[in-house]
Amino acid sequence: MAARVIDGKAVAERVRARVAEDLERFVERTGRRPGLATILVGDDPASAVYVASKRRQCVAVGIADHHRHLDASATQEEVAAVIDECNANPEVSGILLQLPLPKGLNASALTARIKPDKDVDGLTPVSVGRLWQRAAGLRPCTPLGVIALLDAYEVPLSGAEVVVVGRSELVGRPLAGLLLARDATVTLCHSRTRQLPAVCARADVLIAAVGVPRLIGPAHVKPGATVIDVGINRIDGKLVGDVDFEEVAKRAGLITPVPGGVGPMTIAMLLANTLAAAQLQEEAESVAAGSAGEGVQERALSNALTDAKRMSEAVATGESG
Ligand code: NAP
Repeated sequence: MAARVIDGKAVAERVRARVAEDLERFVERTGRRPGLATILVGDDPASAVYVASKRRQCVAVGIADHHRHLDASATQEEVAAVIDECNANPEVSGILLQLPLPKGLNASALTARIKPDKDVDGLTPVSVGRLWQRAAGLRPCTPLGVIALLDAYEVPLSGAEVVVVGRSELVGRPLAGLLLARDATVTLCHSRTRQLPAVCARADVLIAAVGVPRLIGPAHVKPGATVIDVGINRIDGKLVGDVDFEEVAKRAGLITPVPGGVGPMTIAMLLANTLAAAQLQEEAESVAAGSAGEGVQERALSNALTDAKRMSEAVATGESG
């Protein structure tokens, strides 16, 4: 096997250690413990497992758990009321509405209700706008995790040809925004893309976020390329990615496994985002409490967001200081 295998578990562990350290410093300085409200509606077994894992990892790094569980029969108004409560609660730094929601609930309207500065999933329209306008803000966890892995393995992005297969709101699109912000030349592919193998074979960095098992084979990969597999598919009870790992590893330079690649990074970045959210709220509050004029307040909020982003990036790359 030619490719070096990226160890997502090890990088995620470094991220968690860094968040735990920075979090204690934040608590010492402010006397406030960052908290995450996970909101689970109904009893979808996969969602219940994800939420339990998020809560466990939060508590392990020192984030307070403000979990809310609503019955599957909860109405749009009832879920909205819980989001409003969390928006107003100063103990809650981050809000995560677990998707998918039971049928009958309007997920985009409920997501949009989350205060952007508490939007640790980075999915509200304001967060999406901030990303594409290159304004500081909270970014979606899985795309952030992909960038953190690339940084951890020192994969150059500036000027690199990066092909992302998949254009979802959750992964492909925000990833393209983050990669553009890092000066990559980005191609976003989808189900209508013609000659997918030839387009992918241009890539220095190829990222698959599709949900089709082993769609990406050696014909899609330039020799020596970095291949990141976001896909999680279940075949006969076994997890496989969107990349044919065995075959592609013979051709790629660097490759993520499934499981153990991107997967562990998603929750690690949620922890980093929760701390970043607490930090930016604290800064915004201290500005609001002062007598600064409106323009000054806006500037300070923007600084706080930039600092939070920088901290998030430092956490992601395992830098200290
Ligand atoms: P999604 O919303 O279903 O989007 C899939 C994308 O793939 C769409 O843009 C679709 O194109 C494109 N596509 C489908 N078939 C294709 C084909 N044959 N050729 C080229 N493009 C094709 O999925 P998602 O939420 O982005 O998730 C993608 C995968 O990542 C899933 O396996 C999911 O489980 C996994 N995932 C993993 C994590 C993690 O933590 N590791 C987090 C989130 C998601 P159209 O837009 O044209 O339909």
